[in-house]
Amino acid sequence: MTVDDGLLKRLLLAPGPSGFEAPAQEVVRSRLAALGEVQADALGNVWLAVGHGGTPRVAVVAHADQIGLIVTHVDEHGYLFIDKIGGVAPVLVPGRHFVVHGAAGPVQAVGGKKPSHIIPVAERNVAPPLEEQFLDIGAATREDALRRVAVGDPVTFTPDYVQLAPGVVASQALDDRAGVYAMMRALEHYAADPGAAELTGVATVHEETTCMGAKAQARRMEADVLVVVDGDFCSDTPAADAKRLAGEVRLGAGPVLGRGAGSNQRLLAFAREVAAAEGIAVQIKAYPEASSTDADELMATGAATLSLSIPVRYMHSPFEVAHTDDLEAAARLVAALARRAGEVWTGGSFEPRA
Ligand SMILES: [Zn+2]
Repeated sequence: MTVDDGLLKRLLLAPGPSGFEAPAQEVVRSRLAALGEVQADALGNVWLAVGHGGTPRVAVVAHADQIGLIVTHVDEHGYLFIDKIGGVAPVLVPGRHFVVHGAAGPVQAVGGKKPSHIIPVAERNVAPPLEEQFLDIGAATREDALRRVAVGDPVTFTPDYVQLAPGVVASQALDDRAGVYAMMRALEHYAADPGAAELTGVATVHEETTCMGAKAQARRMEADVLVVVDGDFCSDTPAADAKRLAGEVRLGAGPVLGRGAGSNQRLLAFAREVAAAEGIAVQIKAYPEASSTDADELMATGAATLSLSIPVRYMHSPFEVAHTDDLEAAARLVAALARRAGEVWTGGSFEPRA
């Protein structure tokens, strides 16, 4: 499957911790502008409809934000103290390379740590709590540091994009720029070969912290059928276990359909049928309770919802890993689902299928 490497790379290299998504959303806007009028709200959500006014109304949603850190304090020696944006484990900070996204431009930083020699033996295998950790930007004093950074500046791991093998990419923001990529490509596939449905693609904000983007979107959204695309854990590494992750999920084996709380069961069955007809391999995972994605908020609109995940290894780390085939397959599946959505959504109701 042909992946648009350039688009994927631009999406992954754009910094966008929750609350600071503008650079990532700019990549979305500039690309989608070729398809029509891009809309946005004050919160930072960005969306575009292909086949406006068509029925049924199908929406595909992915979150543009990523995890990160935020500067909370600059001490008298110019060291930066931090808090987390979203799920950042303290172990990810010491000895790593970061970028503080200051008003005047990016500032290089490293996570400070004690030399291993002087860490008491009992503490060598644990990271200090985040409030005890700090970043070093090479400043001599507080005043010196404040010339380049400010309290409230967002911080990310140094943006990087690494190809591990053909199709296997590693980068910090695959959760959920992989989903944003699939959403955008689905719109492009659908625009090139449309059906009767309206297909709206949405890039939300704040998912990693409050799901506020999805909450705002849910208030205005009138979709009949909704697909939420997010990253989901892989079970195919020595660090994971299918039994604990509610199912076997392998990298490159296709997008994952969530079965349970995150999906409408009839829509899920229809998605499997469409995938089979299109020759798209899919994987199934159990969702025993909340999906912990934007789907939890958006399902409240009453739309028939499908949780469609991209397999991602090492979630919430500087190098998450995904397979581009899974991204493209998710995009093709969403476009095909939109084309055929009229088969199950008739006269304002979701028809049960035999
Ligand atoms: Zn996510």
